[in-house]
Amino acid sequence: MTYVVGVTGGIGSGKTAATNEFERLGIVVVDADKVAREVVEPGSDCLEKIREHFGEAMIQPDGNLNRKALREKVFSNHTEKEWLNKLLHPKIRQKILHQLNHANSDYVILSAPLLLENGLDKYCDRVLVIDVPESLQVERTIARDDTSAEQVEAILSAQMTRDQRRQTADDIILNDTTLAALHSQVQALHKQYLEAAIAHGG
Ligand code: ATP
Repeated sequence: MTYVVGVTGGIGSGKTAATNEFERLGIVVVDADKVAREVVEPGSDCLEKIREHFGEAMIQPDGNLNRKALREKVFSNHTEKEWLNKLLHPKIRQKILHQLNHANSDYVILSAPLLLENGLDKYCDRVLVIDVPESLQVERTIARDDTSAEQVEAILSAQMTRDQRRQTADDIILNDTTLAALHSQVQALHKQYLEAAIAHGG
């Protein structure tokens, strides 16, 4: 299989900003969040099973999943949450592996906010953590999403801590200054990954 670099980091850390730069350098990026949305697209087996299990209220008039309604169903119900995870996780994993196996760049990036929490790092040869102080995570996410500090902090507290993530990392980009500084750190790592991919055999 192609050499795989996992990219992770907390909410608003700059994963997308970093992976956009890898993409600009010609590297295929598999985005776990995007795959998670694809497996419940209208017409998919998963969406049909969700409809059968939880009812018509799960489907919006345009045929898309009603995420808010689904979240409310599973939020405080462990059994239903398990049911949903058992349905979605294997599909997501299968699709991610398919995309990783079919990527035709010198190496491939797997980007996932919960890469470590969901054990996706086992498919990676190397893990890159995008690291920022929490105050910046909150500030940048509020500016991007028009959300409140309380909401961002609630998401932060459900994710792995900054220290836990840093301990698991092979490489760390500290994204606490400009986008230009982020890009130049990506470019430096890109050179290392190209060499590692050659040593790995493609
Ligand atoms: P999420 O997990 O929430 O999707 P993310 O890790 O993908 O977030 P980004 O969307 O890349 O984070 O970054 C969050 C916001 O901060 C974006 O608006 C992005 O443009 C901005 N940003 C990222 N890095 C920097 C930087 N170095 N300087 C200024 N703004 C930045």
